[in-house]
Amino acid sequence: MPDTGRSIAVVGAGVAGLATALACARAGHRVQVFEQARAFAPIGAGIQLGPNATRVLHGLGLESALRAVAAFPLELQVRSGTDARLLGVLPLGERTLARYGAPYATLARADLHQVLLTALQTHANASLHLDTRVDTVHQDGSAVQFSAPDGLVRRVELMVGADGVWSRLRSLVAPDTPPTATGHIAYRAMLPQAELPAHLRSGVITAWLGPRFHAVTYPVRSGAWLNAVVVVHGHGDMAPDSWSQAASADAVIAGMPGLSPVLQEQLLAMGSWQSWTLFDRPPLHQAATMGSGRVALVGDAAHPMRPYLAQGAGMALEDSCCLARELARPAASVTSAVQAYAHARWRRNARVQARAVRNGLWFHSTGLQAGVRDLGMRLLGTRAIDLPWLYGFQA
Ligand SMILES: Cc1cc2nc3c(=O)[nH]c(=O)nc-3n(C[C@H](O)[C@H](O)[C@H](O)COP(=O)(O)OP(=O)(O)OC[C@H]3O[C@@H](n4cnc5c(N)ncnc54)[C@H](O)[C@@H]3O)c2cc1C
Repeated sequence: MPDTGRSIAVVGAGVAGLATALACARAGHRVQVFEQARAFAPIGAGIQLGPNATRVLHGLGLESALRAVAAFPLELQVRSGTDARLLGVLPLGERTLARYGAPYATLARADLHQVLLTALQTHANASLHLDTRVDTVHQDGSAVQFSAPDGLVRRVELMVGADGVWSRLRSLVAPDTPPTATGHIAYRAMLPQAELPAHLRSGVITAWLGPRFHAVTYPVRSGAWLNAVVVVHGHGDMAPDSWSQAASADAVIAGMPGLSPVLQEQLLAMGSWQSWTLFDRPPLHQAATMGSGRVALVGDAAHPMRPYLAQGAGMALEDSCCLARELARPAASVTSAVQAYAHARWRRNARVQARAVRNGLWFHSTGLQAGVRDLGMRLLGTRAIDLPWLYGFQA
C-alpha cells in the first residue's frame, strides 16, 4: 500500500486499538499507538468470536494466526442450569462456514491480543508506545494535539479513542455520565483440559441458563484449555476499572440458586476464579457519540456492552475495519471519514448493545418466564439461537 502520509494516533492497545491501528497501517497511514500499561500481562479469560468477527480478522490477513491459537467448536448447546436438560443446539463448524463464509471461534483474550500485537509490531507503518498515558487532548480545525508523559506535544490528523469502558477521550466526543454498574458480576476461570477428569472436558460451547445466573463453558488454546464464565446478580466490591480479583469457587456457587449438580461439579473442578464487576452504558442513540471532528471512538470507549451476546470484541473488530474503509475513500477528508464512520456504525452497535441486555434478562429468567423461554427454544430450534443479522454482517 502506498504511504498516504496521513498521521493517526490510537489511544489504547486493547483489541479495538490494535485492530484499528493494524487496519489503518495496512491502508498506508502512519499510525502511532499509545498504551498506558507498561507491559501486556496475559490477563483476561476467554472471548467468543462469531463469523462477523473472524471475517474481519481474515480481512486483516490473520486467518492462519487465528487458526493457530483458537478453538473452533462444532456446536453451541444451551442447557438448563438447574437440571442440565438440553434446551437447544446450534451446529457450528462446517454449517457456520457454509452459511456465513467464516468460522465461529473461541479463544483466550490474551491470544487474540497477541495475534494483533505481533501483526502490528511487524508493520512498517506502525509504532507502539507503552507506558504512555494520554491525558490532555485538544482538537482544532486542522489537527488534534496531545501530550503524553514524555512531555512531547504531538499533532496528528486523526485521533482514535480505543481507551476502553473508562474512556477519557470519550469526553471530547460525547460529554456524558460515567459508566454504571449493571448489578451483575462475572466470574472467570481457565485451565488445561488435561487437569480435568475426562467427563468434564469439552470441545463445545455450553450455555447454562438458571434463575438470576448463567454460565458458559468453551474450549480455548486450540481446544487444550477450557474457559468458564459465570454471571450472577450482585455488585461486588472491587475497583470499577479493575479486571481481576481472586474469588473462591464457593463464592461463585453461592450466587447460583438451584444450581444443577452436573454444572456444580464442572465449576468446582475449574480451580481458581477471578471476579469482574460488569459496567456498561445505555445503547447508543445517535451517531455523534461515535466520533466528532478529528476524533473517532472504537470498541468499548464508544459502546461498552454486556457480555450476553459475546460481541464486545466482535463489535470492536467491526469498528476497526469500518473506520479504515471510510478513511480510504477517494477524496475523503479526515472529518468526513469520521462522520461517515459514525453514521455507518452507531445503529449496529446500538442494536447489539440492546440485544445483549435482552439476552441477559432472558438467560436469567425465573418461574413462569423461564418455562416460556425453554418452551420457545424447543419450538424454534436453531432459529432461537442462530442470528443471521448478527453473524452474516459484512463489516
Ligand atoms: C485486561 C483485560 C481483560 C479482559 N478480559 C476479558 C475477558 O476475559 N472476556 C471478555 O469477553 N472481555 C474481556 N475484556 C474486554 C474485551 O477485551 C473488550 O470488551 C473488547 O475486546 C473491546 O476492547 P477495547 O479494546 O475497546 O477495550 P479494552 O480491552 O478495555 O482496551 C482499552 C485499552 O486502553 C488502555 N488505556 C485506557 N486509557 C488510556 C489512556 N488514557 N492512555 C493510554 N492507554 C489507555 C487500557 O490500558 C487498555 O489496554 C478484557 C479487557 C481487558 C483490558
